[in-house]
Amino acid sequence: MKKCVQIAIDGPAAAGKSTIAKLMAEKLQYVYVDTGAMYRAITWKVLDEGVDINNEDAVRKLLAETDIVLLPEGQVQVDHVMVTDAIRDQQVTKHVSQIATYEQIREELKERQIVLANSANVIMDGRDIGTNVLPQADFKFFMIADSGVRAQRRHKENLAKGIESDLDQLEADIKKRDETDANRVHSPLKQAKDAILIDTSALSIAEVVDKMIGYVLK
Ligand code: C5P
Repeated sequence: MKKCVQIAIDGPAAAGKSTIAKLMAEKLQYVYVDTGAMYRAITWKVLDEGVDINNEDAVRKLLAETDIVLLPEGQVQVDHVMVTDAIRDQQVTKHVSQIATYEQIREELKERQIVLANSANVIMDGRDIGTNVLPQADFKFFMIADSGVRAQRRHKENLAKGIESDLDQLEADIKKRDETDANRVHSPLKQAKDAILIDTSALSIAEVVDKMIGYVLK
């Protein structure tokens, strides 16, 4: 049986990973797997059910009985409830990195991610895909951008959705999330040794997609 092709994209918050991964997946006809959405989904459920977020075992038990589905158009379902917008709200964004420090949560989600990666050609984005989830990926990218640029992009996205946001606060929140993700004990955010570094600070979306597709088709 032919092995599925795996493309891993990692990098800090709001570096443009999901925008680029979606476009690449469309062009290559691959399946896009947003692993951040899975961490957000369990965080949403923890908050929704009032489970103690500091109790790793309670969070693990909750995840064991939680069905998370990533639909093809980017929608996310938790136990058959559509949570696509809810998992992007401020409370989830604020707490997700704490849940992502828990080893048992990471192990369980990693297993689910590997199942998805073995079922189709995939572009998977996250923080530990090239280092931990798919260390044998055919292509690995590590996407970065200046934190000011990242905050600006998020700010514009928010405004386009009609959401007010404070630019300085956005930048501070992004930096804080990166710090937690990069300094945690279990599979921290880190560039894999064999990943190609892509700095998107001064590039347009089309330029980044062309550059990365160029590596894949070479
Ligand atoms: O990609 P996104 O910003 O939606 O991810 C939300 C959070 O989920 C990250 O800040 C990180 O804490 C966690 N995450 C992770 N490992 C992944 C994907 C996301 O720890 N592979």
